[in-house]
Amino acid sequence: MEYKRVGVLGGGQLGRMLAQSASLLTIPISILDVGHSPAKHVVHPSTSAHIDGRFSDPEKILELARQVDVLTVEIEHVDVAALERAQKETGVSVHPAPSTIRTIQDKFLQKQHLISHGIPVAESVAVDSNEEALRAQCTRFGLPLMLKSRTLAYDGRGNFVLRSAEQASEALQALKDRPLYAERWAPFTKEIAVMVVRSRSGQVLSYPAVETVHKENVCHLVFAPLRSADPAIAERARKVAEDAVRTFEGAGVFGVEMFLMPDGSILVNEIAPRPHNSGHYTIESCHTSQYTNHLLAILGLPLGSPALKVPSAAMLNILGVSASFTPIAELVNVALTVQGATVHLYGKAESRKGRKMGHITIVGSSDAEVRSRLRPLLAALPPDPQ
Ligand code: ATP
Ligand code: MG
Ligand code: MG
Repeated sequence: MEYKRVGVLGGGQLGRMLAQSASLLTIPISILDVGHSPAKHVVHPSTSAHIDGRFSDPEKILELARQVDVLTVEIEHVDVAALERAQKETGVSVHPAPSTIRTIQDKFLQKQHLISHGIPVAESVAVDSNEEALRAQCTRFGLPLMLKSRTLAYDGRGNFVLRSAEQASEALQALKDRPLYAERWAPFTKEIAVMVVRSRSGQVLSYPAVETVHKENVCHLVFAPLRSADPAIAERARKVAEDAVRTFEGAGVFGVEMFLMPDGSILVNEIAPRPHNSGHYTIESCHTSQYTNHLLAILGLPLGSPALKVPSAAMLNILGVSASFTPIAELVNVALTVQGATVHLYGKAESRKGRKMGHITIVGSSDAEVRSRLRPLLAALPPDPQ
């Protein structure tokens, strides 16, 4: 079997899990990132040709493009002009399309794009970075007001919640020098995510809807499938997610984050043009993982089934507590004794508070079983600071 070579901008955990899936199929993969980043650990150096450099460096992108057939990304914060130039100069395919990454990487452009295609989102407006404009926006949208950086946002770093107009100066200080927009507060009852895969010919398949639980803006837990008294909600979420992904060009997996509103309606929060934290569970829980389907999609191969192959699953992120690896090791030691639990560590050289260091997927024959298997893991987490 000989597959085309895939190049990935970014060598973090998402690139690592892509490389793990690629290795199962002997798909050759080259990672562009600095040093011996997590994704580069997976493939033996003699069978791959990774590039040492910043994935923001246009020359390095060109170097990668010259040695692969298809370029993809594990992060949307990339230099789209450099991707377009590499595409033009080398003829490499880029998936998803650079235009898709450009729209998505500016969260306000992304919102406007979704609105123009009739996808439901929270009302949003660009705001000038001055106190007067912010205070006026508090009056218009009411409080709390969600202020967001348009670009380079992740893990909530780029969001500021104004609980009073008096916080305008604090908000500007926190998000200084960043282009901003404001969102109407969404008093959601749950956060839902759906992974969607789109083939090169435009076929769109969705994974089951899942519940995501965030702690301090970082994904903490995922439950699959969505627990809900009304099964129509999960189907609605999948439909909204599929419709949203159909509006973008190019192949690959997309992570669609959504809010379930008190009236049962669904709003799209944001879309990631790549595999997503809320889809890690698919590795052990679905017939085809998000990573395998991303590779199949961008290589123009037939997609695999996204259906669940277990009745119930959960995913717990392993976040750094401090520079010490001890709390992580303690949690992992517990997880290794729990039936149905699979530990993934990303091999990051340094631990920092809040840094994604690994995750644990738990599968079981029922939601109740998954909950009971999760319990000792939650008990092994370091206590929240009071
Ligand atoms: P990610 O790491 O997922 O890319 P991000 O930095 O892009 O995160 P968002 O997803 O925009 O940030 O927001 C982070 C969290 O803040 C959401 O998961 C949700 O809990 C909350 N949030 C975002 N927008 C709103 C809103 N309009 N109303 C209420 N809560 C919101
Ligand atoms: Mg985001
Ligand atoms: Mg988000």
